[in-house]
Amino acid sequence: MRYEKARAIVLASRPLGEADRIVGLFSQELGRLDAVVKGVRRTKSRWGGRLEPFGVVDLVLFRGRSLYTVTSAQLVATFAHIREDREAMAAAALACEAVAGLFGEEEAHERVFNLLARSLAEIDRGFAGRAYSSPLVLGVLMKLLHEAGYLPVLDQCAHCGSGGMALAFSASRGGLVCECSVGEGVPVTPEAVEAMRSSVELPLAELRGLPSAPGAEEALRHIHQLYMHETGSRLRALRFAYQT
Ligand SMILES: [Zn+2]
Repeated sequence: MRYEKARAIVLASRPLGEADRIVGLFSQELGRLDAVVKGVRRTKSRWGGRLEPFGVVDLVLFRGRSLYTVTSAQLVATFAHIREDREAMAAAALACEAVAGLFGEEEAHERVFNLLARSLAEIDRGFAGRAYSSPLVLGVLMKLLHEAGYLPVLDQCAHCGSGGMALAFSASRGGLVCECSVGEGVPVTPEAVEAMRSSVELPLAELRGLPSAPGAEEALRHIHQLYMHETGSRLRALRFAYQT
């Protein structure tokens, strides 16, 4: 049993008993972990709003036999706009949920931490239109999939390797496919192909400046299929967008 310092992003939070919470964290030093926060649900809690989802916090964690307990927390960054804007909140929830789904417990992964922190900062700066048709949101999910080793094949057919026209997206083949296996995928438009490619090539700051587009919305559906194929679970943050 020992104490550990960690800088972490709060991914999610759920009640535990009468007064406590369990927070899901992604930390720079320890990767993905869960920790108990004692007394956080009491009205005069000493924690204030410091352990709300999407915040970046410096923590001291006590490592118990089966679970961590947060013993101190200092807020490093709070994203005020995310809390006030429904679409920004949906985008941030999607980013945090994808991180929780893609990366295993205590797999130290500083690049993922930095990517998630940059994603939340860009989302906090604001983007135009709905979250599910935003090139920024597509870019966040695509870059997280890339870090997890699930980047789809976008420059040739994922099955036969030919450079022919991409006619469908196949989650099971892992990317765009040509006429050789069009039946195994979902038809894809050139706009969605373009949106997928730019979501890989362009930095998040540039994607944030692009307008919402039907191509980005379609691309996010395909990439969500890939996410579900790889993780075995859907992104709940998209349930209002798709109603399936
Ligand atoms: Zn092919």
